[in-house]
Amino acid sequence: MSDYAAFFIEIRDGKIRNVSYETATVARNLAKESGLIPIGIAVGSGFSTDLDIFGKYGIPEVVAVDHAGFSDYSPEAYTAAVVDFIKKYNPSFFIMSASAMGKDLSPRIAARLDTELISDIIDIKLVDGKIEAVKPVFAGKARITISTNSPIQFVTLRPKVFLPSEDSATSCTVTASDFDPSSVEVRARIKEVIKGTSGKVDLTEADIIVSGGRGLQDTKNFDILEKLAEAVGGVVGASRAVVDAGWRPHADQVGQTGKTVTPGLYIAIGISGAIQHLAGMSSSKCIVAVNKDPDAPIFTIADYGIVGDLFEIVPALTEEFNKVIR
Ligand SMILES: Cc1cc2nc3c(=O)[nH]c(=O)nc-3n(C[C@H](O)[C@H](O)[C@H](O)COP(=O)(O)OP(=O)(O)OC[C@H]3O[C@@H](n4cnc5c(N)ncnc54)[C@H](O)[C@@H]3O)c2cc1C
Repeated sequence: MSDYAAFFIEIRDGKIRNVSYETATVARNLAKESGLIPIGIAVGSGFSTDLDIFGKYGIPEVVAVDHAGFSDYSPEAYTAAVVDFIKKYNPSFFIMSASAMGKDLSPRIAARLDTELISDIIDIKLVDGKIEAVKPVFAGKARITISTNSPIQFVTLRPKVFLPSEDSATSCTVTASDFDPSSVEVRARIKEVIKGTSGKVDLTEADIIVSGGRGLQDTKNFDILEKLAEAVGGVVGASRAVVDAGWRPHADQVGQTGKTVTPGLYIAIGISGAIQHLAGMSSSKCIVAVNKDPDAPIFTIADYGIVGDLFEIVPALTEEFNKVIR
């Protein structure tokens, strides 16, 4: 066994993404239990001064690969930087987020290291010094427990499932890596990033999501969902039926071929609860469903269910939330 439990720090636009505190927390807990040193690796450009914040999470050292060549995400260059770090530090554990970047990067890293990867996990514990992880399979219909014999125990965490927690503060040393991305053969380069114009919080980071389905009947009826979302401080999501009909953009789609979300509160309105939809939201902490069909499958996973016409219920809920919250 090596000395380290390592984790990946995600940087976007020069800022640390919240999922990095989730990976830091899990790596620190594993390190404590196994007597290892937690260590982070961050790859990007123009960010390294902020990294000492990880001291609050009990992390004594972070390696910063800070180079202008990493200003745009490049799977090849980022993979090479992380593999270089892992070869130098030889960690027993490596923890990443199953975020969009993590999903792209982690299989590449695993392949380059010829190690196993347990992806998108929702629970973790150590048994005889080895990770035992739980992950949803068959579009969320079942859960399996997996362990691995790989020398590097490599997992990705479903975002927002493992809550970040601070620890007794320590001073965090930021070590500059000398890794140079110009040595990497990069075959694909990002030429332009077109950001969504709505400016709303990304669904994967939202704490409250109000999602609408085909029961809304028309794109204009999403107005009532927008009002409910505003009343509860949430963002609007959608089922695939709605996205396929062109009522909402694909960025709003929750499910197997959309986004996987884990908010504190998920309100499903006029959504039947097809297995492909459940695959993207069943790990939400509290699920509320509104549907006129009492046998709709969504009620089988809902914590609270309201059977009735959404066109009556949603405005009434909005009115009540506005009274309580404002
Ligand atoms: C490979 C594959 C991938 C897929 N990926 C996804 C995915 O990522 N995400 C996803 O969502 N789906 C996905 N689907 C589609 C999925 O199978 C369903 O077709 C889809 O989720 C149905 O959307 P819905 O619940 O909005 O519509 P419906 O199933 O038509 O349900 C509409 C619901 O609204 C209710 N309703 C109607 N009127 C009212 C009213 N006035 N008041 C209250 N309730 C009302 C109805 O009772 C019904 O339950 C995928 C399918 C396949 C094959």
